[in-house]
Amino acid sequence: MIKFLDIQKINLQYQAEIEEALIRVYRSGWYLQGEENKIFEKSLSTFLNVPNAIGVGNGLDALRLILRAYIELGFMQEGDEIIVPANTYIASLLAITDNNLIPIMVEPNINNFNIDITKIKEKISSKTKGIMLVHLYGQIVFDENLINLAEKFNLKIIEDNAQAIGAEWKGKRSGTLGDAAGFSFYPGKNLGALGDGGAVTCKDETLAKTIRAIANYGSSEKYINQYKGLNSRLDEIQAAILQVKLKYIDAENERRRKIAKRYCTEIKNPLIILPNYPIHELEHVWHLYVIRTKNRRRLQDYLTKNEIQTLIHYPIPPHHQEAYKEYQDFSLPISEQIHQEVISLPISPVLSEKEVSEIIKNLNCYE
Ligand SMILES: *Cc1c(COP(=O)(O)O)cnc(C)c1O
Repeated sequence: MIKFLDIQKINLQYQAEIEEALIRVYRSGWYLQGEENKIFEKSLSTFLNVPNAIGVGNGLDALRLILRAYIELGFMQEGDEIIVPANTYIASLLAITDNNLIPIMVEPNINNFNIDITKIKEKISSKTKGIMLVHLYGQIVFDENLINLAEKFNLKIIEDNAQAIGAEWKGKRSGTLGDAAGFSFYPGKNLGALGDGGAVTCKDETLAKTIRAIANYGSSEKYINQYKGLNSRLDEIQAAILQVKLKYIDAENERRRKIAKRYCTEIKNPLIILPNYPIHELEHVWHLYVIRTKNRRRLQDYLTKNEIQTLIHYPIPPHHQEAYKEYQDFSLPISEQIHQEVISLPISPVLSEKEVSEIIKNLNCYE
């Protein structure tokens, strides 16, 4: 069976270094808020070229904390609106509704699955305070129109960069394009820890300080609590492992690009719709390689029979989830179509050329 994602194999590439990191932290006797976290935050901000990086508990918390900090700083208040793509992973919405903000869902572009920037302006109201961009499947969504819109309507641009670490837009990395960004180091992400982990990046010092405090019980000084905070910190063990893996992320993303390029040029089957191959390759780090097909179930069964594991990202759009019953009558036909037709092919830095050829051959024989 060709695995969808072989996380064990990915991590065993760096076995000696990761084991050294684990033992170093274990023996140090210091497990939270220590040197490993500081070093990782510094490496991440250097890698991205952004002034502030804050290690937090996970990707969802990273996004929750950004919005929470904007509320504490008086830039947003409960009931304000945040624009978000309708077809994102549910975490982007949860971060919004958890802060009692209102998600305003905008339809994606069916060719690249990202939010359709041309449809944002008509959704802006007097209550709109931000746009949560999701660089879905690893592809950056950003342009000058977005910058102008945000300036004109005084909106914060928040990047959900859980899937796109390392991607570049005009020489700038994703996670540095807007006002603040949330990262996830969930094991299956391009930069994966050995458990949960996340980070926030931002330019503004006050915002960074506020987020750091909220993530630590609302406190920047021990036993002095300025906010009703939460506990969301990156473990020292995860920070030490992430230091190792960050060194290799560009090379790993490059390997993903090579595989994506082969899929984009060698899969030739009228029953399969490939994603738009971006003109600017660096804008995509191919967290997922997502194709569309009318009869998804049939294609998935065929691939399984041929020993190729695939997954669906995602089978149900957020507005059709039970958790969001209040949005069930919304009409978001493009998003709904995407959720019915998508299927994700194996892609990872440890997938071999032989396996890629096998996948392409099977897809080209599918009828
Ligand atoms: C993974 C993911 C998150 C949440 O990250 P966790 O670390 O799992 O909390 C948020 N948004 C998107 C788009 C994701 O893919």
